[in-house]
Order: sequence, then structure tokens, then C-alpha cells
Amino acid sequence: MKHATQAVHVGQDPDPLTGATIPPIHLTSTYTQEAPGKHKGYEYSRSGNPTRDALQECLAAIESGQAAASFGSGLSATSTLFQAVLQPGDSVVAYSDMYGGTYRLLEQVFRPWGLQTRYTDETDPAAIAALIDDTTRIVWLETPTNPMLRLLDIAGVAEAVSSQATKHGHKIWLTVDNTFATPALQRPLELGADIVVHSTTKYLGGHSDVIGGALIANDAELMEKILFTQNAVGAVPGPFDCYLTHRGIKTLHVRMRAHCENAMRIASWCAEQSGFEQVIYPGLPDHPQHDLAGRQMSGFGGIVTVVLKGGLDAAGRFMSAAKLFACAESLGGVESLVNHPAIMTHASMPREFRERLGVVDGLVRLSVGIEDCDDLIEDLGVALAAAT
Ligand SMILES: *Cc1c(COP(=O)(O)O)cnc(C)c1O
Repeated sequence: MKHATQAVHVGQDPDPLTGATIPPIHLTSTYTQEAPGKHKGYEYSRSGNPTRDALQECLAAIESGQAAASFGSGLSATSTLFQAVLQPGDSVVAYSDMYGGTYRLLEQVFRPWGLQTRYTDETDPAAIAALIDDTTRIVWLETPTNPMLRLLDIAGVAEAVSSQATKHGHKIWLTVDNTFATPALQRPLELGADIVVHSTTKYLGGHSDVIGGALIANDAELMEKILFTQNAVGAVPGPFDCYLTHRGIKTLHVRMRAHCENAMRIASWCAEQSGFEQVIYPGLPDHPQHDLAGRQMSGFGGIVTVVLKGGLDAAGRFMSAAKLFACAESLGGVESLVNHPAIMTHASMPREFRERLGVVDGLVRLSVGIEDCDDLIEDLGVALAAAT
């Protein structure tokens, strides 16, 4: 099956008991056993639940992975991965432009626990590999990054990491947070990554009504470790959340087409206005990695980042005046949102760190929804007039 067909059908066999075309949501914490230890494969819903299993099958299929684990949030997926594969004294090498919450997890939870993280601002695979030493067990990257929309060459980094792993004589897991691109536009496992991480809260769920996360991989031993750790630590999603996420995934490929189309039009419109200092979108020919985006992704995504002339005051006026673009954290829903990273999503990064990345006070991130694009552009026009 092709991925769009998998998104609709995998994990969605009719209920054998009733014939219900859509499988029921298994809202149960426990399972009745015929005799102690004699059960149908489920014992307790922290350890396993059929609604969660259905979602996980689908997630694995659409990311071209062997298996998936789903979590109560994107960050619980990430922290469970770290707990599963890292020991105190180990290190992570990361591209520095990353989700603020991941940075906070690395610096404020795992550094005190004994994990070192080294960051690079360079997208060159050789520069990333140069930070790897004998303690490195994970290389972490997002592409496109949040909110600067820089790209990393996944295949190039995979090659560089794998030659370092050979040199050091142990596995180094290349982990890609694929939240921004989604498997509808980019499948990192096919490009040589070992682990894909998702905040399913964003495009996969797609309707801003559920928090969730996922890990997908091709290594059976690794997945076993992750599932063991998840059960031991307890970061599981509820059955209803799994149902909502799975329901969202069925339309992912259609929504992503609409997000990309609207975002491309909006980025082009923004580039023609004089009120923006900078317009960042991988689909614009002046994006420094436009060619890589064309090779690595089958669409340019639904996020457009702009820098307003006039700094924080202008950004504030812009965001308050926009109406269809709701001022809110998060992204990837069918409705358009506007976010101010320096104050909102990236507030946990020190000022120098984020400004070095380019996350300045006039920078605003647009999560372009699937509304009629004429209405969205009109809304941005009003907002820009208010800002300037
Ligand atoms: C939102 C987000 C996360 C964190 O996910 P939660 O579901 O909020 O825990 C991680 N990575 C990226 C790129 C995100 O946008």
C-alpha cells in the first residue's frame, strides 16, 4: 500500500465482534483474565491497549518504520527515548535550532542527571559529526527547524554519523524530530535516520484538540527497550487521545497539501510587502536551502516565519490585530495560528542563545491553516497595517 492508503486503512480493520467499520475506542484500564495469566494479550492499559496499538501500527506504516510507540506528549516521547538509551556520562550532539521544550529538557532535566549536550549552529553534516566523541549516543536534529525553518540534510548527516559510529565502535542513534514536515512530506527513516520523533499534537492530530507524541524506528531491539521504558516510566496516552490522533492521521496527506498551498501563497505575498524585514519559507527561491528542500521534501510545509520591521512593538501590534490567525502556542492545526517565539514557545532559551539563532524580538511564526487563502491574506493585511 502507498502511504496515503496506509494512513486511511492501517489499524482500522472492522471490529470482529460487531462488524463496526470503525473499531471501538477501548476505554478500559484493565482486562478480565480467564485464569491468572490467561488473557488475550492485554493485561493493563499502561502496558497495552488496542486503541493505542491501532494508532501505533498506523504511525509505523506512514513513517516507513517497523514499529512505533505513542506517548502522552511529544516531550514524553523524547524523555522516554533518552531514558531508554542514555546513561549518565553520555552525550548528545544537537543542531541548536530546536523546539524550546526539547532544549529545556536537555539543559534543565538531563544535564543535572549527568547528560552533556553539545550544540552546533552549522548545518554542514561534517560540522555536526565533528562534535561526536566517545560518549556520544544520540545525534538530535529537527528539519525544518522551529522557528527559523533551516534544513538539515538527513541523508548527509546519517552518513557522517554512521562513519563516526564505526570509528567509535558503538551505535549512535540519529534522531529526527519530524513534527514540522510530517511523513506526508518527508520520511527520515528512508533517508538513513534511526529514530523519528513526533509531537502528534501538531499536524498528525491536526485539529488542535489533543496532546500526544510518538517514536518510530526500524530496530526491533531498540523498540523493545523503548516499550519497556515506556511501561516502566508510564508516559502513555489515553485511548480517547489515541483515537483522536488516529482520526487526524487519516486526512494528513490531504491537509498537508492544503497547508503547503496556502503557505506558499502567503510567503509570496509577505515577500512583496514592505513591512517585513525578512520572510522565511523553504519554498521561496531565496531560501538558502531551497534546493535541499526540493530534494528532501515533497512539499515545503505549512509554517512561514516573518520578521517585522519595528521589533517587539510591531510584532505585538501585528499579532493583536490579526483575527483569523489566533495568537496561540502550537501549530499544525486546520486553523491558522500566530506565535511570538521569543515570548512564547522559546522563552525557556536564554536570550543570547536564541538571538544567535535569529529568534529576534520582531520575529513571528505563522502556522498557516487550511482556511480560504484570500481570507487569510486579508487578515494579514489588516495586521500588517496595524503593525506599521
Ligand atoms: C510541540 C513540539 C514538541 C513538543 O511536543 P508536545 O506534544 O508539546 O510535548 C517537540 N518538537 C517540536 C518540533 C514541536 O513543535
